[in-house]
Amino acid sequence: MKHLRCKIRGHNLSLVSKQLIHIKEYECTHCHQKFTKDGYGRIVKFTRYWEKNHEFFQNHFQKQILS
Ligand SMILES: [Zn+2]
Repeated sequence: MKHLRCKIRGHNLSLVSKQLIHIKEYECTHCHQKFTKDGYGRIVKFTRYWEKNHEFFQNHFQKQILS
C-alpha cells in the first residue's frame, strides 16, 4: 500500500522548481503524485486540466515577454 502513509499522515509536498513564478507545482515525496494550487490557494491534485491551464499561462507569459 504505497499511498497508505499519505492517507494517514497527509502528503509530504515539495515544490517542483519551475521557471515561472506564477505557477507552482508540488510533488509528494512519498507517493510522487503531483499537486498544484488553484485560484484560491488550495492544494489540488495536478490533473490534465491543470496541465492544460499551465501550458496556457506559460504560452501567454512567453508571448508577453517576447512582444
Ligand atoms: Zn503522497
